[in-house]
Formats: sequence, structure tokens, C-alpha cells
Amino acid sequence: MKTLVCIDRDGTLIYDSPEHLFIGHTDAWREQVRLLPGVAEGIRLLNRLPETRLYMITNQSGVAIKELSLLTEQRAREVCQYVIDVLGAHHALLDGFFVCPHVPPEYAAQHPQYELDEHLVCTCDCIKPRLGMVFSALKKEGVDLTGVSVYVIGDRASDVETGINAGGVGILVPGEPGEEEKVRRLPHKYFIEKDFLSAAQRVVQQAQGKNASGQI
Ligand SMILES: [Mg+2]
Ligand SMILES: [Zn+2]
Repeated sequence: MKTLVCIDRDGTLIYDSPEHLFIGHTDAWREQVRLLPGVAEGIRLLNRLPETRLYMITNQSGVAIKELSLLTEQRAREVCQYVIDVLGAHHALLDGFFVCPHVPPEYAAQHPQYELDEHLVCTCDCIKPRLGMVFSALKKEGVDLTGVSVYVIGDRASDVETGINAGGVGILVPGEPGEEEKVRRLPHKYFIEKDFLSAAQRVVQQAQGKNASGQI
């Protein structure tokens, strides 16, 4: 594997709107899973890139929120698998997914309206912009960061930061207000694209440029 592309779920692959917040906390969650425009096409484009693996990596803070009792870690994983199945029906293939169900201690202070599962309030290694889920993807592929170019595509600055923290590139697909401004303050190893397809095209362009120049 030469290229690892990690892709955020909510607001990047599928719609993330106030009424669809915390997908999986009701029994009718499958109806709420809708691919964003250009996503299937963008994934298919990335599928044609040689020696490339694609993983979904998602922070699911809702799992830690007690009142969302149906949104267990198991349910969050079911939603991820369903997104992969929906993409698969469009011949757009992901190699797997990783979920962070934790919230940092600051989250509790910032969200006093929620009662949280104390076992999930912790400083973990997997929450983006930390690299736990990127490392899990590398481990699943049986490699380490050596010789692998990492790209992270997402709608938040924390996604972009994850790519940069991995020594790679972060690509923002705008969605969340204010995220673009945060990204512009990060080290300049990012791109801001108008949608997922453009982000995928950017990865292809970058990866092919590296091959052409003899770099890994
Ligand atoms: Mg997101
Ligand atoms: Zn975590």
C-alpha cells in the first residue's frame, strides 16, 4: 500500500443535518443515511488509484450520551457498515471503518445538557485529531507509516488536522460553519475543496504527482 485515504463519515460521506444528528439513536436510522453528492463517484475514482486503501474514520460522541440509549457502540458500527453497504451498491468500495466512541473530559464541561457514560469520558488515542484510527487502518493493512502517504478528508478542522498529524495532507470539504477559518490557521498542508468529488480528484492529483517525481 502506498496511499491511505481516511474519510470522515458524518457531513463528508453522508448528510449531517440538525434533524439527522446522532444517526442511529432512533430505530428508523436507515432512512436517514443519505450519501452526499459526488461521494460515490469520488470513492470510485479513488478505487482506481493503485496501491490505495480507503477507510472511514469517525468520532461518535453520541455513543457516550446516556439519553441516546439506542446509540450504542454496536449501533454506531452498524451505521458505518450500512454506509459501506450503500456505497457498495454504487460500486464504491471502502476497506473498512473505525469508530471512536469516547468524549474528552472537556466535552462534559462544554455540553452540560448531556448526561454522559462515565466509562467513555476519557483522554483516548483514537479521537480525531489524534491518530489512533489512522494507526488502526495501517495495522489492519500490516504496515506502518513508512512509505505510506496519508490523506484525511473531512468536514471539520479536526479531520484536516488528523491528516497533518500523520505527516500527510488534510482536505476539508466545507460543511460545518467556522471550520474553514480554523483550517486556515493550520500548517499549510491542507486543501479546501468544494465537495467530495473535488477532494478525491485532489488526492489523485497529489498521489500521481508523487509517483511522477519518484517520491513515495
Ligand atoms: Mg464530520
Ligand atoms: Zn476514542
